[in-house]
Amino acid sequence: MSALSEARSVLLPGATLGVMGGGQLGRMFVHAAQSLGYFTAVLDADPVSPAGLVAQYHVQTGYQDEQGLAQLMQRCQAITTEFENVPAGALRTLGAQRPVAPSGDAVAVCQDRALEKAHFVRCGVPCAPHALIEDEAGLAAIDAAALLPGILKTARLGYDGKGQVRVRSADELAAAWRDLGGVACVLERMLPLALELSVVVARNAHGEVVTLPVQQNLHRDGILAVTQVPAPDATPAQSAQAVACAARIAAELGYVGVLCVEFFVLADGTLVANEMAPRPHNSGHWSIDGADISQFELQVRTLTGLPLIAPRQHSPSVMLNLLGDLWFDAAGQLREPDWAGVLALPGVHLHLYGKTDARVGRKMGHLTVTAATAEQAREVALQVCARLGLAAC
Ligand code: ATP
Ligand code: MG
Repeated sequence: MSALSEARSVLLPGATLGVMGGGQLGRMFVHAAQSLGYFTAVLDADPVSPAGLVAQYHVQTGYQDEQGLAQLMQRCQAITTEFENVPAGALRTLGAQRPVAPSGDAVAVCQDRALEKAHFVRCGVPCAPHALIEDEAGLAAIDAAALLPGILKTARLGYDGKGQVRVRSADELAAAWRDLGGVACVLERMLPLALELSVVVARNAHGEVVTLPVQQNLHRDGILAVTQVPAPDATPAQSAQAVACAARIAAELGYVGVLCVEFFVLADGTLVANEMAPRPHNSGHWSIDGADISQFELQVRTLTGLPLIAPRQHSPSVMLNLLGDLWFDAAGQLREPDWAGVLALPGVHLHLYGKTDARVGRKMGHLTVTAATAEQAREVALQVCARLGLAAC
């Protein structure tokens, strides 16, 4: 964070902003930056990455390529990340010479479930009972009564439910840990979830914090399927607690940038933090169409030092993820989803990420339905689901 906290003259439109990673989050960051008049550069090895396709400059190298990092620094006045598994060391290298937000140190905490949970505990934010398993001794020491049935999650590199196994007994746990390659894992107790929430928080170098409204998320097969804002089932007290916890988690990290914290509300109404992502989040995509400042504009503002204004939600929103599954009919034949049909419905905002090959489970795009009331947004979202053949939300 050094270069960021020291300097801080504001980087005004006309400057060039860099992003590590070329996925859809980078693409939407690029769109937001460009619409504010910034130039953009993306570092990603993929020649047809979603963000690389739309940025002014595309550095086509791996994240640790010294020449690539040098080229990015040469082009850019400040750099952010869109992918939490960008090696923290690469962000530290960049951070020594350019403002980088979030910092390599903050991203390193989010990259490791054990460090992440320790951070929640340090902040006094409740999380699931858990234990770290790094070796056979750690496996043998598990308190089965406290942690089983549970979910075994790799400490690093998991996403969209990958690297996770549900286990009921000590034998299943041992088999699952070995199947995961005996890598460092966190075993969490399986909790009775009533609902899932998330909060996007933006914090700048002066410690100012703004948040988006609390989001309610529905997952299918470990992948986010639907986000509704306002959150229909969260109580005001749960929402207030989630916002306060997210702000504390960001502040205690000395975080600069956009951070998303995922929460569970348990059957008894208690709130626990699940995990955090050091970047905009799929559950915040609705803010492009439903709020006057999107999570990607917040990322631009925190990176450049532009004023950090509290976003205002102007429309109730329902966001539906569009996975590659939609590109296949019942017989497994490729087809194009009925875009004309869904775009004929009021308040539908379609976002496709420019990915050419559809695969089952791959995030190809999303759409947000905005309306004057939450009921109307939900009503149209159900019509979208019917037209696309999506499970009803
Ligand atoms: P992503 O990065 O896409 O959010 P991930 O692979 O990091 O996902 P998690 O968020 O840890 O995975 O878990 C995915 C989903 O699995 C959660 O949103 C929740 O539905 C369920 N889940 C995870 N941990 C628990 C738990 N301890 N008890 C009950 N359900 C859980
Ligand atoms: Mg998650």
